[in-house]
Amino acid sequence: TSPWANYEMAPLDPIIGLTEQYNQDSFPQKVIVGVGAYRDDGGKPYILPCVREAEDRLFKKHLDMEYSGIAGDANFVEESLKFGYGEDCVALQENRVQGVQALSGTGGLRVMGELLRKNGHRHIYVPNPTWGNHKAIFTNAGLEVKTYAYYDAESSSLDFDSLVKDLKDIPSGSAVLLHACAHNPTGMDPTMDQWKEISSICKERGLLPFFDMAYQGFASGCAATDAAALRMFVDEGHLVCTIQSFSKNFGLYGHRVGTLSVVGATEEEAQKVVSQLKLVIRPMYSNPPRHGARIVQTILSDPMLREDWEVQCAGMAARINTMRTVLRERLSAVGSSRNWNHITKQIGMFAFSGLSKEQVMKMREKHHVYCTLDGRISMAGVTSGNADYIAEAIHDVSK
Ligand code: PLP
Repeated sequence: TSPWANYEMAPLDPIIGLTEQYNQDSFPQKVIVGVGAYRDDGGKPYILPCVREAEDRLFKKHLDMEYSGIAGDANFVEESLKFGYGEDCVALQENRVQGVQALSGTGGLRVMGELLRKNGHRHIYVPNPTWGNHKAIFTNAGLEVKTYAYYDAESSSLDFDSLVKDLKDIPSGSAVLLHACAHNPTGMDPTMDQWKEISSICKERGLLPFFDMAYQGFASGCAATDAAALRMFVDEGHLVCTIQSFSKNFGLYGHRVGTLSVVGATEEEAQKVVSQLKLVIRPMYSNPPRHGARIVQTILSDPMLREDWEVQCAGMAARINTMRTVLRERLSAVGSSRNWNHITKQIGMFAFSGLSKEQVMKMREKHHVYCTLDGRISMAGVTSGNADYIAEAIHDVSK
């Protein structure tokens, strides 16, 4: 008998599996607004010109392809930390912020999850709702995933009162995952005043803030603005951990570029944590890939390329915002009388449409428009060419 005879076919991944389904659909007007990957207005993947330029420069250098260290490229990590925490961050200047290169956001979350579990954490708190992969990442790292309230579906807005109430009930010492900006899937972030309140509660309760920063620059179009919550927490003395992903903001999805870092009470403390991270990484994937990190490092360390990146990232954020307005307008043009104000109120890559699972399924089957079952629409996949079709499909299933 086959050693594989008892293996069952696993279900498709709720987000990535959607692309597989879409690829098999032969309907000419099919649309995918599933995975959070930026498309240009022609619906095509977009390679940032600054990334192309960095690649050209790297190519000309004829660099070797030796192994990276376990913690990755130290120059990249240094630039990445300045990018995230801000060059004027006191903790950074005091060398209390230390990190490792990570296999993008997902890899960083998993490695930190493992480290927390190894060091006595039993659970982690994530917002409800949250990115579809968080639960599986932390569960597989051996943590029990619990949730805190975040969103009020009735009013399509942040449910701040319930969030505060839930945070206050979290046992002290617990790790709490916070989306640094452009909350996925809801597109609703706390205001700066609300972040301050969250910071105070975390302090009172002795919680460990764990920032997931997958969209820095994508929310407002400005990298510093999008890092404001993280930077405020660090200024307020929180000893946080953070993952940074360069998948979306640099368009480096397949290169798996990211950073996992911690802020320690002292430099030595932060270094000890990094040494422990390396113990997790070595038997897991040994060391990270080089090329993407070199691209980001080249851009961040060159003032001209860095400026180009800022303009190009802001351009992506602006196109998404235009599409929010377009989609909302088209929905009313096709006769929808529902309130779609939240589409333009939300920020980041997604519109949390409020469509039910049944409506999402109907839209898939009848109109060949693919979004995730929670009704999340990737605005990055909406274009001048397909906005009408998407609006008609949404209206048809929601009227
Ligand atoms: N965290 C959040 C909130 C995300 O939305 C994503 C991607 O969709 C990630 C992390 C991880 O992405 P990556 O592993 O490509 O960096």
